[in-house]
Amino acid sequence: MEEDITTDLCVLQSHLDGMLDRVQYNSLTLKRFQVFEMKLLNLNSLAEMIELLLVDAKAFFDLDAISFCLIDEKSEISGFLDDDGFDYQNRKGIFFMEDKKLLKKIFGSTLRPFLGDYKPSKCEGLFPDLKNKPQSVAIIPLNRRGQYLGSLNMGSYAPNRFINEMATDFIEHMVAVVSICLENILNFETMRRTSLIDTLTGVNNRRFLEQRIGEELDRSQRYDEPLSCLFLDIDHFKQTNDTYGHQAGDYVLALVAGMIKKQLRSNDVLARYGGEEFVALLSNITESKAYDIAERIRLSIKGLAIDYNDKNINVTISIGLATYQPSGSVTKSTAEISTELIHSADEALYSAKQNGRNRVAKGEPVFDTEIQAKIA
Ligand code: GH3
Ligand code: MG
Ligand code: MG
Repeated sequence: MEEDITTDLCVLQSHLDGMLDRVQYNSLTLKRFQVFEMKLLNLNSLAEMIELLLVDAKAFFDLDAISFCLIDEKSEISGFLDDDGFDYQNRKGIFFMEDKKLLKKIFGSTLRPFLGDYKPSKCEGLFPDLKNKPQSVAIIPLNRRGQYLGSLNMGSYAPNRFINEMATDFIEHMVAVVSICLENILNFETMRRTSLIDTLTGVNNRRFLEQRIGEELDRSQRYDEPLSCLFLDIDHFKQTNDTYGHQAGDYVLALVAGMIKKQLRSNDVLARYGGEEFVALLSNITESKAYDIAERIRLSIKGLAIDYNDKNINVTISIGLATYQPSGSVTKSTAEISTELIHSADEALYSAKQNGRNRVAKGEPVFDTEIQAKIA
């Protein structure tokens, strides 16, 4: 009797130990997953997401193979990666699909993960970089609001690693998180590219200028009005950074941009062209008026009393200006005229720098034809 109880106790104890082990294992897995999830939530770019999925997820799930497929109907996503210099063509595991056909074939209308044997008819094309195809797979659809974004494809050389009857709650949770993060990142990347404001200075950016300059030229031709362009560049700005630090430099840049903007009319265009360079487009402003405006801007910057962390910073600015005068008989394209206008203002800026900085210089006027330029 006593022996029986002892045996039962031993069996119970071993069950308990087994359960404790499993609890401990699950809790560790959960912790690792939380770490993985936190990394996902803190991503800043699509390139980072691709690396996280291909490297961390592979390690986390202890996979033999992983690949990440993105639906990229208009080649926008690959364009984002191109812009960021991410060499996706040579990054094994990431690939793009022009349409959703293959995913529809795999998932039908369920949008639920597919777990089971690797079936060439179903999985063909999902592991393009793999010589030996996996034995079992988990193909996970990434989707938001019923729309496919892509799929995360996991593979194992063990035939029973992924089987049809497996509980998929854990995977489905991950799908939801990855899908939301992916949608977020794609939205962010789109916004970053379509934004027309420079975040540091609050003035428009170069993309905006490139869009607007054509419209301004059209307008100038339609109303037979001059269009003046100022190219502004802070003098010895590298020295300002070197002396007071980059943050002080950023502060100065924002103040200078604000001061330039203040001197312009509300319908004038002001854009940060690059680092410490700005371009302004002044519609219906002749060369001599533009010169006066540029002088006013130059003096306002010179007079700025900049206080940064109890240090006084002085800056000056050099300005090149060029004016386009329409003639009513255009032979050049708008793109040609806009390039010439900015180029001429930039050349004038160069000469302002050469002649000692903190000054305004006039560039060659821009005309509709070469003959008009010669006569002038
Ligand atoms: P120059 O009078 O000939 O224009 O001299 P410069 O020093 O202004 O010109 P240079 O082209 O040698 O250096 C430009 C400097 O502008 C270097 C770069 O660190 C700084 N710069 C560009 N963008 C930013 C920015 O966003 N923030 C800060 N703080 N500095 C910037
Ligand atoms: Mg400069
Ligand atoms: Mg410069």
